[in-house]
Amino acid sequence: MEYIDKPIAAQKRIALVAHDNRKAGLIGWCLEHQDILARHQLLGTGTTGSQIEAATGLAVEKLFSGPMGGDQQLGAKICQGEVDILIFFWDPFEPMPHDPDVKALLRIAAVWNIPVACNASSADMMIQSALMARSFPRQIPDYQGYLAARKSELAV
Ligand code: PGA
Repeated sequence: MEYIDKPIAAQKRIALVAHDNRKAGLIGWCLEHQDILARHQLLGTGTTGSQIEAATGLAVEKLFSGPMGGDQQLGAKICQGEVDILIFFWDPFEPMPHDPDVKALLRIAAVWNIPVACNASSADMMIQSALMARSFPRQIPDYQGYLAARKSELAV
């Protein structure tokens, strides 16, 4: 796979997702960093997004609830370049039935090279980074180039 430049813009689209036992933790984290979060665009799975909105007053674009496919909608948005950062407080103490969904979301975030935080200390470091306030270089897979190469391979 070849890679191309696709910088992450100064204003970030931040996805917020928490499993039930981690929702209070994520809401607390959002309250703590409310001022910085207010400068960016927020989206999240249905229940997480609604609870963050209610607790903080920040506007959150709400996808479906996770178990109904919200995390897969989020994965699609990551592929389409519509998510810049993933804050995903998954529950390490109750891996089932979440495991396949966790794996799928973390995998696609790795493919498209977006920053991911799975706990509060990583999220703290990320949100306090100087890069939150400015654009920064990032490389993503060259999918168009990959397709063109596959087509010519198949034509041979
Ligand atoms: P929820 O989904 O925010 O709708 O609870 C999160 C999840 O379980 O993946």
